[in-house]
Amino acid sequence: MYRTYKYRIYPDDIQEKQINKIYGCQRFVYNYYLSKIKDNGYISSRDNIKDFNINLKKNYPFLSEVDGLFIRKTLFILDDDIKKSNDHPKYRGKNSKDKFILSNSYSNIIFDLEKNRLELPFLGEIKFRGYKNIVKIDDNIINVTITRENTGKYYANFLYKIPDKKRVNATSIVGIDIGIKNLITLSDGTIYENNRYLEKYEKKISQMQKVLSKKIKGSNNYKKYKKKINIIYNKIARSRKFYIDKIVREIVEKYDIIVCEKLTTKNMISNGNLSKQILDASFTEILKRIESKAEEKGKYFYQIDTYYPSSQICSVCGNRQRKYKDLKEREYLCPKCGNNLDRDYNASVNIMFEGLKLHMKRINSR
Ligand SMILES: [Zn+2]
Repeated sequence: MYRTYKYRIYPDDIQEKQINKIYGCQRFVYNYYLSKIKDNGYISSRDNIKDFNINLKKNYPFLSEVDGLFIRKTLFILDDDIKKSNDHPKYRGKNSKDKFILSNSYSNIIFDLEKNRLELPFLGEIKFRGYKNIVKIDDNIINVTITRENTGKYYANFLYKIPDKKRVNATSIVGIDIGIKNLITLSDGTIYENNRYLEKYEKKISQMQKVLSKKIKGSNNYKKYKKKINIIYNKIARSRKFYIDKIVREIVEKYDIIVCEKLTTKNMISNGNLSKQILDASFTEILKRIESKAEEKGKYFYQIDTYYPSSQICSVCGNRQRKYKDLKEREYLCPKCGNNLDRDYNASVNIMFEGLKLHMKRINSR
């Protein structure tokens, strides 16, 4: 399992010069080969690296002042950017967020929070400030990304591995049904409703966007209004985050085995409607967050296959009815045993049972 931590760093004059030299050379090489590719068509990163060593370095001696690995890495990134972008990637300007990655394999990264000591390849010992709730992670550091933000501040972003947690002795289980009417239904009957504020704000935003479209693009008025819209977007984002945090925390604290279905485009409901898009994003995020939180706490997380007909099976007698395909039907009524349950609740119980099977398989295969 991987974690990242960000620390503000305070390079001295020499270190700052060195950092900026690396940024400068990376930017120069990136732009040089991007322009070459724009003129001549695609060139592989291998050929670019060759060209760099044979030609460019000779024509621009300052490029030899930084380690070749920064150049190679830059050319790999350029290659990725080209493959990712439809047109061509943008040239790197002086204002673009600069970064480079220092790997633990270059030389040992020493990061001892007890002794307040950070030592990086190429830069040496450097001052830093940040969280102190982890003690010593240097053995597990994968790499450190050194960034300079627009504000001129420098940061070190650590990517490191934390050892897998010992698993809890599982004594409780919950199934999760994710839906449209209610965001989440648990097999213990708990319901997390969709947030109403989304709909309220969605209407407001679409009205405001209409107003915005009538303003002259780029004018002060336009900018002011756009800012207003952004404030509402941020409001939505904040309260959405707050709600998701709460859901994830409550479920993972209460249960040792957590089961849900895999999401497919079938459960996704996007149709351009803002509140629905946000809902889709919430589904994905909630599951991702539950997974990582469960991992962190040593709990079990299972996702059952999408072809499992959780909404068609009767959770009491196991009878399957194909008629329950229509999402509008809110109640599950079983003709065989008379079971009459909320449809999402019925599904969540089925999901729980399927998860229990997966769990038993896992436990017994050890
Ligand atoms: Zn039944």
